[in-house]
Amino acid sequence: MGTSIRVGKIFGIPIGINYSWIFVFLLFIFLMSRQFADAFPGGPVPQRWLTAIVTTVLFFLSVLAHELSHSVVAVRKGIPVTGITLFIFGGVSQLAHEARRPFTEFIVAIVGPLTSIVLGLLLLALWDLTRGLSDSLGFLLLNLFIINLSLGIFNMLPGFPLDGGRVLRSVVWGITGSYWRATQIAARAGQGIGGVLVAIGIGFALQTGELQFIWTSLVGGFLIVAATMSYRQEQARESLRSYRVSDVMTTDWCALPGETPLTSKLVAQGFSGGEDFVGVLLDGRMQGIVTRRQLAQATRGAWSYTTLAQVMRPLSDLTIVEPDEAIFDVLEQMDEADLERSTVVRNGIILGFITRSNAQRFVRSLSPSKLRL
Ligand SMILES: [Zn+2]
Repeated sequence: MGTSIRVGKIFGIPIGINYSWIFVFLLFIFLMSRQFADAFPGGPVPQRWLTAIVTTVLFFLSVLAHELSHSVVAVRKGIPVTGITLFIFGGVSQLAHEARRPFTEFIVAIVGPLTSIVLGLLLLALWDLTRGLSDSLGFLLLNLFIINLSLGIFNMLPGFPLDGGRVLRSVVWGITGSYWRATQIAARAGQGIGGVLVAIGIGFALQTGELQFIWTSLVGGFLIVAATMSYRQEQARESLRSYRVSDVMTTDWCALPGETPLTSKLVAQGFSGGEDFVGVLLDGRMQGIVTRRQLAQATRGAWSYTTLAQVMRPLSDLTIVEPDEAIFDVLEQMDEADLERSTVVRNGIILGFITRSNAQRFVRSLSPSKLRL
């Protein structure tokens, strides 16, 4: 997402700040200082700015706490998180992939707003306990209560990709069993809510003459774009869902006995068919493979009697996939585990191999424009 600066790591999750956030940060300091001046007219100027700055820093930490709760639960549910980025409209947790079960999506989504609401209520209690101690402390706690409560409530609006939209999707997904149908409904709701926010923002701005309502419209516009992009992405994914591993696997390769020397003409012939590996037979059964790269590495400085069996990669090293698994899912798993090749097996019989590069090429050839989103 654009240009971001890394500011550190929490629970092993890299935290980044997009440059657009700096604008919000400064704007917020300004707004808070103005609000403080309204609440305590005639108060000392340094106190006013200091309170505004501390409130803004804690606002930043509140958004971070919200995102961290998503990320921590995602990691606990087995979804790797590549980072959290704060940007102009709040924060995003970058999950390596979408949840694979409705309940996982539900729990990862709902924990964010719940964290914000609980945090808000704790701040309210703290405000009540410390009432009368200090103007600055009271101002700070009350504003942070409002901020966290609003964060929680706004994010629960049921439009994708807001948390509430994800909750909606997980519920529809759980009921109908169709991830695609649920995504369609939640994304449409996201577009609808975005449209309503745009209209409300413009309406209030025109009626009151207060320009800050334009912000509501901008958030609404952002929501429409984000919902539409998510929709298209899932559509592309859905159209790929009908393709299986068997559509892209290699079924035709040359297999040679393990005792064949690397320098043998048979090996060179084995690679002439366009495949980037040869199978290695031990006791008449295919037990491993030698790739073109392995061969190049092994022949450099090898003895003339080095055999295929000595340099092969045993099949047990490769992960196994079924021929009727969806390419999209398999590709995602291979990306995640950084695997280049898997064996396609059914009932213990090797049917072929799938390589990440072949699968990626196949996927790209199907939808050249859609997948770049
Ligand atoms: Zn959230």
